[in-house]
This record gives sequence, structure tokens and C-alpha cells, in this order.
Amino acid sequence: MNFVIAVDLEGISCVVGTPNEGLTKDNVQYKFACEQAVREVNQATKALYDCGAKKVYVWDNHGGSLNLDYMTLDKRVNILAGVGLKHRFSGLEDKLIDGVLLIGYHAKADTSHAILAHTCNSTKYQYIKLNNKTVGEIEIDALLAAANLKAPVIFVSSDDQGVLQAIKELPWIKSVITKYSIGRNAGLLKHPSTVLDEIYKNVKDAYMHIGDMKKYKIKKPIQVEIRFLRLEDAQAANNSKTKEINLLDPYTITYNINKIMEIY
Ligand SMILES: [Zn+2]
Repeated sequence: MNFVIAVDLEGISCVVGTPNEGLTKDNVQYKFACEQAVREVNQATKALYDCGAKKVYVWDNHGGSLNLDYMTLDKRVNILAGVGLKHRFSGLEDKLIDGVLLIGYHAKADTSHAILAHTCNSTKYQYIKLNNKTVGEIEIDALLAAANLKAPVIFVSSDDQGVLQAIKELPWIKSVITKYSIGRNAGLLKHPSTVLDEIYKNVKDAYMHIGDMKKYKIKKPIQVEIRFLRLEDAQAANNSKTKEINLLDPYTITYNINKIMEIY
């Protein structure tokens, strides 16, 4: 069986970031986040191969990609990296993927006490709703994994809020809580080594229960509602000539799509 491990950084163990900053190259925790992400990915990779996986692909997708030190990744993986992909997961459509793992993911934008919560872009969106329900990157990537790879999400690691949201929408997954959020930049953190042990155990468990995993789907046509932080962005989106868009209020647009790939 073949697997994709999609790697973000905000949900990696012991990462809390600093106020008013994203997890960018200048952030005091960026280097640790990248190194610990490699350790967490390597544990998941080892668990998958120990269970008999044929191939594991790692997608380095935080920010503009190119975060991880590829030399330190398990040498059995292939790596999807860089920007300008046609869709999320592009390049892996023909690989016959059986399951997708989301490592280092985080809670959606409209979560009160979650570490580094945002949806897609913390400086641009207040929230994204699909069919009248707010969603985060966990739900969006689960929909895109189903659409582009025909594969279910089988495992998620995140803070407690992110895992709670993941289980609500994807109740079949196995998961690891990497830390308990106290606020946007504070948490009660599990030791990184403990998280590594838990990832190994729970990814193995996910592999053993692969038959229970489901492709995440929602009703079509999909109604998209996006609330921007700046009304100029809502106005600019409203003037787009590629979609029929309605302005709900100065900050919020809505439009319908038939395929989740059309969301952006
Ligand atoms: Zn990220």
C-alpha cells in the first residue's frame, strides 16, 4: 500500500510560536519546528513500512514549502516540495494512494483557544465556510485527498483543539494530541519524545484499521463563504471575473462550486 504524509508545522509538538508572527524562517521556533517535524514524519514513515507499506510520499506544505531538511528524512520516502502546484496533492494523483496522514496540522481560524489556529492564511481570512459550516485545513485537505487522490485521511496529529475538530468530521481516523492549548501562543506540551512514541503506535493502529477509513465528502454544489480580514480583499474577490461571487457584507463573499478543487 502507498501513503502520503502531508506535513504542516503549527501542530508539531512543543511549537507555540510567538504573538503577531507566523511560523516563518525568522521565528525563534522555526528551526526546532522543522527538525521536530522530520522526527515525527520519520516515526510515521517507520510505522508504515514496519506494517508493510510499499511506498511513502512526504509533502512539505507549510507556507512556501521547502521547510524540512530532506537529508534527515527516512531515505525510503519520495518528497513533494515547492510551490505552484495546480491543486493540493498535485503530482501524486497517479500513485494509487491508500491513505493520507496529516502531521503537524492545526485548528481552524475561528477557534478561541488553539495554538496558532488559522485557515490557509492568518493574515487574510477570518474564516472559510463550506455549506454553512466553518472548516479548517484538516477538512479542506481531507476533501482534496478524496477528490485528487481518491484516498481517505487515516491519521491526524495536532493540538487538542485540532484533533477534536478532526475527529468530529473524520471519526474513523487515528490521532495523536501533540499538546494541550492554553491560548494562541501557549500550551501544556507533551515531551517531543513522548509524541514520537505515540505517533509510531497510532500510525500502526491506523494501518491495521485501513478498512474502516472513509473518503471525506460533502454535499454538492458546495457553497463557499469567505470572510476576509480586510474589506479590500473582499472587494477584489467580488470583482473576480472567473466566478459568480456575491458580497454578503463588506468583508464576506459567497459563491458556489461543483468540485472542491475550485475552492481557491
Ligand atoms: Zn503551516
